[in-house]
Amino acid sequence: MCDGQLRTFAEFLSEMEGDPKYPIVERIFSAAPEICTAVSANYREDQLFPEFRITPSLIPSAEGVSYVMHISEGMVRHCINLPYPPAHLLIDWPPDHPINPMFVAESFFAWVVAHEWFHIVHDHDGVLRVLPEQIDLAQAALSVEHDADLCAAALVYRFIQNIYQRQMGNLNVRKLTFFVLYWGIRTLNPPVEQTGHTALAARLLHIIMKLSMVSDGDEGGDYDAVRPETRQRSEELTSLAMDCEEYYQSNILDSPEAMSWIHEWHRGLQDDGDYGQIVETWSEVNDYVVRPD
Ligand SMILES: [Zn+2]
Repeated sequence: MCDGQLRTFAEFLSEMEGDPKYPIVERIFSAAPEICTAVSANYREDQLFPEFRITPSLIPSAEGVSYVMHISEGMVRHCINLPYPPAHLLIDWPPDHPINPMFVAESFFAWVVAHEWFHIVHDHDGVLRVLPEQIDLAQAALSVEHDADLCAAALVYRFIQNIYQRQMGNLNVRKLTFFVLYWGIRTLNPPVEQTGHTALAARLLHIIMKLSMVSDGDEGGDYDAVRPETRQRSEELTSLAMDCEEYYQSNILDSPEAMSWIHEWHRGLQDDGDYGQIVETWSEVNDYVVRPD
């Protein structure tokens, strides 16, 4: 490996010749431009697509820098080696058909690429530069991460919905989406764009909220969470999140953490702390995102 050098997808793939995971990497790379097309579709039709470059770092990270998207080798390896339990233990899934590792890698890589591309398409850096003084900049910076996370989650949901809705129904599509995102985000080590458990707890909580509200394809999204089915989805996804966390603590961590994100989550909700604040700040910052007429 050439330390310190950026590689194109093709160069990275050529180094993986003979590796059993080669087909998975080939698939996730080939899907990346389509993900960016889907992200750009509703915003800027004139948007150029990014050049993708793999950085040599083994720490999972990704960064959209204008028209170049840097994805670390560590992030690629994270996506193709995600630890996750047999799906039927946690969601409705046929026990005799293990979930396809290519599908899991592709879905989580799609979330990573979409997250970065939403930063660019929504021009988050530009927005942060023009905010009025009364908006706290640190909160605003967190709120654009929140936006990228949730827009990317909705995109992965639609990707999974296209594949599975007919055979498994809409609620299960939402659960499968959360399942993939949970294992991808929870097992990032060191955590990307997270400063601790509170950030992780808020991140997962907000993804649950988004996946509860987003449209099923028939009715529009329920962004004020007024419909009973939104509440039911949110309860089911919360329960799935707790089951996933319990599995993670008992079976994947060498020693369970004294304080899981679920404890932080409950504490945060009681304090009415950062969680609501991020959503509120985003609703102010969102006004500065330029969208097509
Ligand atoms: Zn980000």
